[in-house]
Amino acid sequence: MKTLSILGSTGSVGCSTLDVVAEVNQKSIALGEAPQFEVVVLTAFNNAKCLIEQALKYRPKMVAIVDAQAGQEVKAALQNSGIEVGIGIEALNAAAAIDSDMVMAAIVGAAGLFPTLIAVQRGAKILLANKECLVSAGELFVNSAKKYGAEIVPVDSEHNAIFQVMDGTNKVEKLILTASGGPFRTLQASDFANITPEQACKHPNWEMGKKISVDSATMMNKGLELIEAAYLFNMPESMIDILIHPQSIVHSMVCYQDGSVLAQMGAPDMRIPIAYALAHPNRIAVATPRLDLTKIHDLQFFAPDTLKFPALDLARDSLKIGGSAPTLLNAANEVAVHTFLNRNVTFTQISLIVEKSMEAADKQGNLGKMETIEEVMHYDKIGRQIATEIAQSLAK
Ligand code: NAD
Ligand code: MG
Repeated sequence: MKTLSILGSTGSVGCSTLDVVAEVNQKSIALGEAPQFEVVVLTAFNNAKCLIEQALKYRPKMVAIVDAQAGQEVKAALQNSGIEVGIGIEALNAAAAIDSDMVMAAIVGAAGLFPTLIAVQRGAKILLANKECLVSAGELFVNSAKKYGAEIVPVDSEHNAIFQVMDGTNKVEKLILTASGGPFRTLQASDFANITPEQACKHPNWEMGKKISVDSATMMNKGLELIEAAYLFNMPESMIDILIHPQSIVHSMVCYQDGSVLAQMGAPDMRIPIAYALAHPNRIAVATPRLDLTKIHDLQFFAPDTLKFPALDLARDSLKIGGSAPTLLNAANEVAVHTFLNRNVTFTQISLIVEKSMEAADKQGNLGKMETIEEVMHYDKIGRQIATEIAQSLAK
């Protein structure tokens, strides 16, 4: 039996992880065997109802919730359950420090960085969904994992695909990250300004949290994934291509120096990479949708339109600069997406805020090396300050 902590258990990835755990454990129990996974930690930001339900079903040792008011609700509901309830950021960090074999890092945004690093420092196996923490802390995060012997298994479907088809040789020519193109792939750029948060959150192929859905719509998600891939697989940006693939069946590819191209395919369902990560280095049987290629007549691939989706080049440029640039880009993007979701700026202004923030950061001399996590936190804060000012100046 493996012990598992889930940071961000009430989100889309967190809930899918628990679905897989429940299915696999039920199967083992039905066969008279021990369950394969024991959930020891669950955490949330403010969704008390969901966290309480999960806690009563999975009986972890501890739950942590950041929001104080929601925390009181959780405390009251679990008071006689024997489950420890922690409230606030300190409690989230304490929960991440509780011993477990594996940690599903599924908090959204750079807020996931610190708790995930705590899990890294105790050498837990990290099932990494939270791409922003890797974008933000890049090399420092990867080096920390190496130092403490914390294995990282990517959960983000593209990186999970690449991880699955990496053959262990050093003869990789390039990585190809596929992208669905999001809900506005075929929409005229002139109609972008009127896009609502509801439209932006309706992804054609995947069901995800709001932030990543908006990122998919602007294509910043693929930009963040480019940075994520560069750090995870230690590849320069020039060796990572992006290809639009509207069907989301081929999840990404590795091209080798002999001309072979290895791809991983599957239905667009996050339970597939989640099940892979949970079982790694083995596999487990999960009732995810099966791919019926006779029903899929077309697998299409196109070059991305970087004029319509400027976020792609903004991310690529930040990766070329390196150091604090991806940290600032990520922070500015989080502010911009949040402001858009609150209807204070338009859809096209999301990328504009990021672009202007990067220009301002450069002018202020904030593009530089980062050697410590404290510096990451510092630049993250600066990115947020700059982007907030720019967003306010643009606000409707
Ligand atoms: P979500 O918004 O559905 O869930 C986020 C989780 O994080 C929730 O449990 C929430 O309570 C918690 N959280 C939010 N803000 C927090 C904070 N400040 N402090 C502590 N906890 C906080 O997000 P999601 O779609 O599940 O995505 C989670 C991460 O996984 C993101 O980094 C995303 O990019 C990545 N990812 C998601 C998918 C997907 O299909 N949803 C696919 C690939 C990668
Ligand atoms: Mg992805």
